[in-house]
Amino acid sequence: MSRPDKPNPGLVKGWCPGARRPMATGDGLLVRLRITAGIVSADLAGEIADLSRRFGNELIDLSQRANLQIRGVEPQNLDELLGHLDRLGLLDPSAEAEAVRNIVPSPLAGLDPSAAIDGRTLARALEARLAGDPTLHALPGKFGFVVDEGGRLSLDDVAVDVKLSGIGTAEGPRVLVAIATRPAHWQAIALVTPEEAPDRAADLARAVVKLRAALPDAPRRMHEIVARTGIAALFRASGFGEISAEVASLRPRRSGAEAVLGDHTHEPGGCIGIGAPYGRFTADQLALLGELAGERAAGEIRLTPWRTVLIPGVGPEKMPRIRPWIAAARLVFAADDPRLAVVTCAGSTGCRNATRDTRADAEHLAAVARRLARSGTTLHVSGCEKGCAHPGPAPFTLTARGGAYDLVRDGRAWDVPIISRLTLDEAAAALADHTLP
Ligand code: SF4
Repeated sequence: MSRPDKPNPGLVKGWCPGARRPMATGDGLLVRLRITAGIVSADLAGEIADLSRRFGNELIDLSQRANLQIRGVEPQNLDELLGHLDRLGLLDPSAEAEAVRNIVPSPLAGLDPSAAIDGRTLARALEARLAGDPTLHALPGKFGFVVDEGGRLSLDDVAVDVKLSGIGTAEGPRVLVAIATRPAHWQAIALVTPEEAPDRAADLARAVVKLRAALPDAPRRMHEIVARTGIAALFRASGFGEISAEVASLRPRRSGAEAVLGDHTHEPGGCIGIGAPYGRFTADQLALLGELAGERAAGEIRLTPWRTVLIPGVGPEKMPRIRPWIAAARLVFAADDPRLAVVTCAGSTGCRNATRDTRADAEHLAAVARRLARSGTTLHVSGCEKGCAHPGPAPFTLTARGGAYDLVRDGRAWDVPIISRLTLDEAAAALADHTLP
């Protein structure tokens, strides 16, 4: 029932936007900021919020790779915005050096006493290695790395291509190098020291560049390359050898928004986990998070790939004052907050293409969306058929057309709906109707 691949004009397959190469979306340019080691200082949070007010539509996405994205930038303002990003140390020398810095670090890198390695150090070293070697800039845009320091939060569910995981051994801390042989399926291929890990990851990256160049349609992801060439070819090209499976097993750990949200002030390194409503902060919310981190915590915000942030350095005695503050700012603090089940775009308050105030409508629909699934995004509310907020399929999508909603099942905003011309109340009733196909 779906129209295959009606293109969003701003979405080019396999292309990952950045600051030097922003992406055109329905609400203007999307400027992605790749934040080194996922650490945003309190001051930087305030600066980014201010730039979003001056040059964007005051909405800042938290991406699934733990980046921040300033939305709604007018093309004529881009150069001035880039000048400010350069001043803040957020601008790479080239679009290629920027694009290769696709690294998702452990959110508590360097702060988690249960971690096997310091993920901050490894993430920075890997980033410098990738950005500093022009031969690696030919990596496909979406090709990504995880640096999991082996602490209490697992990054196994993050959809990247190479995973570097800290692990304790009798010989001392080591890094397990693994590749995605299928989506979310990892095969361990080497055990190296933390100092060796960036070079070994670069060896793998170079092998990927070489192997895909020899294939007719240049596959973009590790699992596609392995499927096409066989894993032996990857081993030969990168100089790796297969290792035993026992080494690959790590203790069970938690991941996802449920593991992050809420009060962790009684745990070692005391922190709190706060979620971005509908996957994005307003400029005011990000500025407030910066103030909270600066005035009541350790001065930094840690980005996670689960639409949440962690603010470390909060003692339990501060919580009675912080809790009402989080509630007043309309931030997410509980793992069962219904807003975690919905993703939406700027809507009519931030985009001229929208025919509905999708953010207000999402608020109205959040509870019913939450009831449809215990966790994860269930509902995409889109201001028009461009589907900027969620280009992939969602279990349910409401697409605004002419002030009413069309309901799409297991599809994208531009797919053929199963029901059309719904009012907001009718849409809520349809979602609550268990007889939906
Ligand atoms: S209304 Fe929403 S989906 Fe449509 S162009 Fe604007 S931001 Fe994108």
